[in-house]
Amino acid sequence: MSNNISKNTPEHKNVTIIGLGPMGQAMVRSYLASGFTVTVWNRTVSKAEAIEKEGAIRAKTVGEALDAGKLVILSLTDYDIMYKVLDGAEDALQGRVLINLSSDTPEKAREAEKMAHRYGAKFLSGGVMVDPPLVGKPEAFIFYSGEREVFDSHQADLAILGKSDYRGRDPGLSQLYYQALLNIMYTSAVSVLHSNAMVKAAGITASEFEPYVMDFLGMLPRFFHDLAKEVDSGSYNSDENTMRMMAAGAEHVAQTARDAGVRTDLTDLISDLYRQTVAAGHGEDGLTSTIEMLKKIS
Ligand code: NDP
Repeated sequence: MSNNISKNTPEHKNVTIIGLGPMGQAMVRSYLASGFTVTVWNRTVSKAEAIEKEGAIRAKTVGEALDAGKLVILSLTDYDIMYKVLDGAEDALQGRVLINLSSDTPEKAREAEKMAHRYGAKFLSGGVMVDPPLVGKPEAFIFYSGEREVFDSHQADLAILGKSDYRGRDPGLSQLYYQALLNIMYTSAVSVLHSNAMVKAAGITASEFEPYVMDFLGMLPRFFHDLAKEVDSGSYNSDENTMRMMAAGAEHVAQTARDAGVRTDLTDLISDLYRQTVAAGHGEDGLTSTIEMLKKIS
């Protein structure tokens, strides 16, 4: 409702949020709880209407949302959608500080900074590292990158969402940290589900299996204790395990999956990787020597 949008509210208490999926909604609620005037826009109007009832101001157009204040947060599925959403409203970017907390690649974040600068806006890219219920809670943390002075000027307002972790000038850095951590989540989630499929094929329910999964996951950090030191130094401790043993073990996992009649692409991939590591001369090195096979493809 355009007549409700106040340009007189002090800037430090004013935020526009574009994108009202679960994440955008959580952000709106955090800012409202902190006393901000929050202007929202969303493609699906019903979501904006619902959050309007909680105290947000609903802009009818993206241009109106951008006009409402300097600080603009985007929470969209990806960066391409940002261009769609801003299409036709680019002139309203002049003087705005665009904080894109949507997921995408580092390269997309770099292109977005250029676009923002073309239209006279400042830009930061960010990656939210928690799910919506934790936004604004002490556990929440968010990576940011882009111009340091932009981050410094708005850090206090951004801190409403969670701890801010500034990664550097390159706007791609926040996405790199974000995607690299999500890679761990995605592969771990698939491996847990794959193991569930393996035991399910033998009639073991997920509930029966779960306590073992949880105990085992709890033990994993110990494996990674010296990982950073070893990866950085290129010296791979094999006091507790050798690649030779791990390669044999990985093939046992793959064969067990094959025998169970479930998909084996994931386990075959790991088995191949370990075998290649051994073939490259790391048979008597520790597990972390697998990094040698994962480094940049030349
Ligand atoms: P959703 O994908 O559920 O929603 C994001 C928003 O994108 C919605 O407002 C949606 O509008 C909008 N959108 C999608 N397609 C279009 C389009 N073609 N045109 C216009 N608007 C469009 O994402 P979330 O809210 O879950 O997450 C937002 C961002 O935060 C994502 O980048 C996600 O990766 C990241 N994130 C999410 C987490 C989570 O657990 N949810 C955790 C950490 C990060 P509409 O309502 O109209 O569909």
